[in-house]
Amino acid sequence: MAARRPLIVGNWKMNGLTASLAEASALAGKVKAQAPAAELGLCPPATLVAAMAAALKGTGIGVGGQDCHAKASGAHTGDISAEALKDAGAIYVLAGHSERRTDHAETDATVRAKAQAAHRAGLIAIVCLGETLAQRDANETLKVVSAQLRGSLPDDATAANTVVAYEPVWAIGTGRTPTEAQVAEVHAAMRQELKARFDDGEGFRLLYGGSVKPDNAKALMAVADVDGALVGGASLKANDFWPIIEAKG
Ligand code: PEP
Repeated sequence: MAARRPLIVGNWKMNGLTASLAEASALAGKVKAQAPAAELGLCPPATLVAAMAAALKGTGIGVGGQDCHAKASGAHTGDISAEALKDAGAIYVLAGHSERRTDHAETDATVRAKAQAAHRAGLIAIVCLGETLAQRDANETLKVVSAQLRGSLPDDATAANTVVAYEPVWAIGTGRTPTEAQVAEVHAAMRQELKARFDDGEGFRLLYGGSVKPDNAKALMAVADVDGALVGGASLKANDFWPIIEAKG
């Protein structure tokens, strides 16, 4: 099996205006000067996908959507299809971020359909999952994460078209992170699940996400079976994001 190429993805959430394209360009400047080992992605708000994809063309930084609808087109006001993201220049799309699961009541079945839509459109689906604090406290983490992984990944998932991001809900935007041993335990369980279900399960990239910062990135990125990071707050400024990118060198 070919080695898994590290992947670091920034999720700007509902932050960023056209002025923020300057941060993306600043990041591209650093990439050009220092050629990091990791593959890089940025997921801005939908209004910036096309402009950012155009601005970052040829820099090695791919652009992603933060969500997509399961259908290719139709009467779904306010939604965006995976095909439209692809048309705008995206190569990734997040599916099932915990904020989508919470704010929009997305279930594993919804997330699976969105991942399938991403594949249909030729996008890489970054499928997000993770336990709540109550579930961790009740010792249900591995059970919950395994069930989400089974339910959220469609049968057509491959190591090439799908990335899995483990993001404990209680670690997102809180400044709290699991211990390295806790991350290792979950990633090992996810790897086992993937190997049991998919012929190329060993090749899927597994990201950790949840309060990754310049000062904890090196330790988190060194954990076994952590192939990169999904980064929220610390991805908004190129100067904060850069040390995280370098941590997976
Ligand atoms: C996220 O939104 O995916 C995330 C991990 O956010 P933060 O890094 O801000 O915790």
